[in-house]
Amino acid sequence: AVAAAQNTKVLESTMADNRRLEVLAHTDPLTAVLNRRALTERLSSELERVKRYETQVSLLLIDIDHFKRVNDTCGHLIGDEVLLLVSRLMRASFRFHDRLYRFGGEEFVVLMRCAHGEAAKVAFERLRMLVERYAFPQAGHITVSIGYTEVRPVDTPNAAFERADRAVYYAKAHGRNLVCSHSELVARGELVEGKTVNDVELF
Ligand code: GH3
Ligand code: MG
Ligand code: MG
Repeated sequence: AVAAAQNTKVLESTMADNRRLEVLAHTDPLTAVLNRRALTERLSSELERVKRYETQVSLLLIDIDHFKRVNDTCGHLIGDEVLLLVSRLMRASFRFHDRLYRFGGEEFVVLMRCAHGEAAKVAFERLRMLVERYAFPQAGHITVSIGYTEVRPVDTPNAAFERADRAVYYAKAHGRNLVCSHSELVARGELVEGKTVNDVELF
């Protein structure tokens, strides 16, 4: 009986270790939001749900404007602090289940379960304004450019990401500190719907 109890204890502690490793493997060490590995996994499973018409999902790409300047003028440590604070503003803006990821560098992704349209846009615009108004301790005022797209039943993960990226690119070219919807830009004739993404592996 003692041996059996000991075995159970070892098993339990191994399972706890595995869970800790699992969390570490999916967490960005600087900001403690989810990392790109977690995004890749989640995006695939969300896409499956979208294909079954169980849910609507928006993919947002958030890129800090002129972030290199922050590093150049304030130093890398202050740059890191800005990344951390921006990730906190994002957490404050979205509900718990709207998952937040650091894609890399100064780029974040949100996978948001929501009906597409005006309400979604209002939420993204709220984040843009929150960052714009925030006084960062050393860096002062910074802004973000946001591009987003609805995840479509016919999508691959790369295709959805690429549309959001093109919307960010548009925002950067049109003054930054903007929220741009890929489908709105296409409807306005500002962007042309891209070809299906080729074999380039983004993930
Ligand atoms: P844009 O408005 O066009 O997005 O300009 P940008 O300066 O934000 O973009 P760019 O891609 O030229 O520069 C991104 C910078 O982010 C360059 C890199 O040094 C910095 N960076 C990436 N990861 C980190 C990080 O973990 N910490 C800090 N401090 N800086 C980082
Ligand atoms: Mg960038
Ligand atoms: Mg940037």
